[in-house]
Order: sequence, then structure tokens, then C-alpha cells
Amino acid sequence: MNPHEPEEIPLETSPTHTAPVRSFQPTSGSYGWDNVAVLAYKPADTHFQGITRQVLFGEAEALASELRYFEIEPGGYSTLEKHRHEHAVLILRGQGRVLVDEAVYAIRPFDLVHVPSLAWHQFRADADEPLGFLCLVPCDRDRPQRPMPREAAALRAHSVAGSFIKL
Ligand code: MN
Repeated sequence: MNPHEPEEIPLETSPTHTAPVRSFQPTSGSYGWDNVAVLAYKPADTHFQGITRQVLFGEAEALASELRYFEIEPGGYSTLEKHRHEHAVLILRGQGRVLVDEAVYAIRPFDLVHVPSLAWHQFRADADEPLGFLCLVPCDRDRPQRPMPREAAALRAHSVAGSFIKL
């Protein structure tokens, strides 16, 4: 054996259950990726409309964060909610608007949206195309809260949020 040859070090088993590369598959309908399941946004609920959820990186990877892709159908919207964890969002397709705290912003592809801790937020797709976005969250996170009756009344009475929100 050549003494100058490096010692062979056995590779550790990767904790990842999926292939290193999973190709983008922009087939009909929702954006998609190989071996990524299209899931319901949340368990059946009446507070959102027309959304799918795909976990791109999550439990299979040893990361502190989870990266999801959400797609809202034309005219649909996400749940109006708040929580302690933050969202880091990158818009990938379509146009729409987002409520963050007390302001409503127009959003389009490649825009970045930061949802701070405990800020009310809701995404809405414009009527003519789906709105798709990546959303980064911590794996260890608190459950979303819906507005209590008093909070809902205050939001409905708000000059900007009131005409935007769907409760
Ligand atoms: Mn949220």
C-alpha cells in the first residue's frame, strides 16, 4: 500500500431521504417538483380559499428551517392569522396583494415579503392568475392564531385592512 495515499474515510449516511436534485415540473396547473407531494394548505377550514402546500425541504433534511411552496388559485386567499414565528417569503409566480400588520402591499414575482412576529397577515391572489410563493419558517414553531372577536372587529373597522381582509 502506498503510504502517501490518503486513508479512505467511510462516508456518513446522509439523513436526506430524497435525491439531491429534484427537477422542477411546471406541468398543467400548480407548479411542482419531482417527488414533492401537493398537499392541502391546512386541514379543512372555512377561512381560506383555493390553496395548495408543498414541503420542498422539511423533515427529511436536518435543517432548522422548512421551505414550503404555496399556490393560491386566482381570487383565492390564505388564512388571516398571526403567530410568534416569522415568515420569509419569495414570490415566484402571479400577482396579488398581502396584508402585513396594518398595510396592504402589491406583490409580483421575485418580491420579498417579511412577516414579523405577531403581525397579522393574509395573502390574496389577483383574479386572473395563481399566486405562488416560497415561504421559509422555523421547524420548531408556534401554531397560528386567528383573530379573537374583538380583534376581528378592530380589523374590520381599520381604514386599510378592513376592506381587504377575508375572515
Ligand atoms: Mn402565517
